[in-house]
Amino acid sequence: MFIDPENPETIPAAAPPRRFNVAALEAELAQASPRDIVEAAIRFAPGRMAVVSSFGAESAVLLKFVAEVDPSLPVLFLDTQWLFKETLAYRDALTARLGLTDVRTVTPSPSALAIRDPKRDLAFRDRDACCEIRKVAPLAAELAGFDGWMSGRKRYHGGDRAALPIVEEDGRRLKFNPLARLSRPELNAVFATAKLPRHPLESLGFTSIGCVPCTHKPSVDGSIRDGRWSGLGKTECGIHLGPLPASADR
Ligand code: SF4
Repeated sequence: MFIDPENPETIPAAAPPRRFNVAALEAELAQASPRDIVEAAIRFAPGRMAVVSSFGAESAVLLKFVAEVDPSLPVLFLDTQWLFKETLAYRDALTARLGLTDVRTVTPSPSALAIRDPKRDLAFRDRDACCEIRKVAPLAAELAGFDGWMSGRKRYHGGDRAALPIVEEDGRRLKFNPLARLSRPELNAVFATAKLPRHPLESLGFTSIGCVPCTHKPSVDGSIRDGRWSGLGKTECGIHLGPLPASADR
């Protein structure tokens, strides 16, 4: 069924609040490999774990480990309808290459777009609001049916991510970051060893790839995410800024 964040009747019923011993899990996984963390995440919530992927510049690495452990794990891909056509093609190519069998493309609510972005110019007027209706709300609604999710963030990206834990609470869910400890050379080694395809825009100089209006090449000595929302004082879209909206847990 299509999940419309604006329509509570389409959102799966709430699960009761859960209590986690995040510190114990963090300690248990502190030295674990990315693949072991993926396995631990799936064990934590069998049948109710998902991975969220942008199919961006580094996404292939986490998806490779996921495919090795369980290629049928749901992979949630947020199509904001502002993505590069190269990203959509890369999603399809990588899905086929890795044998992923449940890649779900999550799109914004048509009613939210009609009400809040009828002229398709919100990305140029209010980027936080644009991310809210095109990323945060759709993901929150889609994750209502899960007890946990995985992201591909890494500490070496710097900023708020420099202190990224391996396990985080996200409302009533847990969020696992299997690649948190991976360095850039280690990431590149996985690409090389597994002969993973690169995102087509990487060869043009893009190091972090999101939506067309908000993605630029990084400055010469900038960090890997330097080209995202350049000069706007914005560094994250919002899906990782604290728990996702509670409305999605209804
Ligand atoms: S990254 Fe830019 S275009 Fe994409 S949802 Fe956010 S503000 Fe909108």
